[in-house]
Parts: sequence; C-alpha cells; structure tokens
Amino acid sequence: MALNVIFLGPPGAGKGTQADRFAQVKGIPKISTGDILREAVANKTAIGLRAKAIMDRGELVTDEVIIGIVKERLDRPNVAKGIILDGFPRTVAQAQALDGLMAGRSPLIVVDIQVPDAELVRRLTSRLVCGQCGSNAPAGLAAGSPAAAAARCPKCGGSFVQRADDNEMVVRERLKVYEKNTRPLVEFYQKRPSFCPIDGSQSPSRVAEMIEMAVDTFAITAGVGGGAGR
Ligand code: AMP
Repeated sequence: MALNVIFLGPPGAGKGTQADRFAQVKGIPKISTGDILREAVANKTAIGLRAKAIMDRGELVTDEVIIGIVKERLDRPNVAKGIILDGFPRTVAQAQALDGLMAGRSPLIVVDIQVPDAELVRRLTSRLVCGQCGSNAPAGLAAGSPAAAAARCPKCGGSFVQRADDNEMVVRERLKVYEKNTRPLVEFYQKRPSFCPIDGSQSPSRVAEMIEMAVDTFAITAGVGGGAGR
C-alpha cells in the first residue's frame, strides 16, 4: 500500500527541507502548496495574480483555491507509491477536505515538527533560498554576507536571495496566522495512531532520522508503504 505523509509545523520548522529529503529517500513525489503558488506567481497565472498580495502579507490563500490545487495533483498517476504533502493542510477545513480526498487510499501519516517561536524567527529572518528554483541555501550562509552574494545554487546555478515573506514583520504575521489557523490541526490529528510528533530543534540530519524512524514504525505496524497502491 502507498505511503501518504503530511508534514505539519510552523513556518521555519524545517518542513520543506525534511519533506524534500524524505520524498527523495522514499522515491515518492512531494507536493508543496507554497512552491506551487510561488510558481503561479512567477508565471503570472490567474491563481498567481490573486495569491501574490495575500502571500506578501503572510496570510492564507482561500481553502477553495488550495483544495482545488491539491485535488488536481492527487489525481495524477505518479502518486501510486504515495505522496508527501508539505504546507497542506493549513486549516481544519483543508484537513477535512483532505480526509475526503484520501478516502479509499492508505491512511495519512502525520509528521508534526515542533520548534520554539524564538528559534523560528531567528531561522526565517536569516534563511536564504535560490531565486530561481526555491531550494534552501546551505546552512551557515548568512544573508547580506559576501559569501552569500558569491554562492550559487548547486541544483540550478541560481543566486541566493531572501524570500519576500521572510522579513521580521511578515514572519511574525505568519506565526500568528499559524497559531490561529494551523495549530488547531494538531488537535484534529493528534488522537490518530498515525500522529508522529518530532522535536525539530535538533540538527537537520537528526530530525530526518527521527522522522524516518517514526514513519517506518507506524507504516510497519499498519502494513502500509510496501509499494503500489493508493
Ligand atoms: P510556505 O512556502 O508553505 O510557507 O507558503 C507560503 C505562502 O503560501 C503562505 O504564507 C500562504 O500565503 C500560501 N500558502 C501555502 N500553502 C497554503 C495553504 N495550504 N493554505 C493557504 N495558503 C497557503
């Protein structure tokens, strides 16, 4: 049966990095609603034009638009081995819609990455991403430093920039939005046997190990993740 995993956690918890790594290790596609929206903004599609101002303020795009995007991705044939969701769901309405979309598929495994607020602000206001492909810059590259200006993305050769919504004012707004809209998801999922809380304040490789261990343990117990299926 397929391995279907969602990554929860506040902005800056390392969801994107960990979801990327996990998707690569398991050979399963990752859907990041943030990446899809940023691409739509860059391509000036109808959704991108509507989403840009909302994203710049650190607020949430409407449930209807986001659910439509995820539904379309889940209908693609490449999800037979499973799917990794990063940045979705972000509201209880999205989580309920996802339960509907997952009916008849393998159970959802929920990875919740937990990190204290002060550490999140520090990480977000100092992080750099590739201006072309959006990949995170290597750890230790400080925004504004000559080393950062000279560095190039190992994936596509692009230069590193700060994300438009990674300045301190927008970061604080995103954390507020997380507390109000997304924190209730922890309650929504935590009674499920597939809920895996992870301490995200440790090193990225330690966090990756803990995630794999927790997901593999659940998957073995529940008999999922062994290959083809939905
Ligand atoms: P992220 O890269 O996941 O931090 O997402 C960047 C921005 O995209 C968020 O601050 C939201 O404005 C928007 N966004 C991404 N995913 C969602 C979602 N599931 N629901 C609503 N808005 C989203």
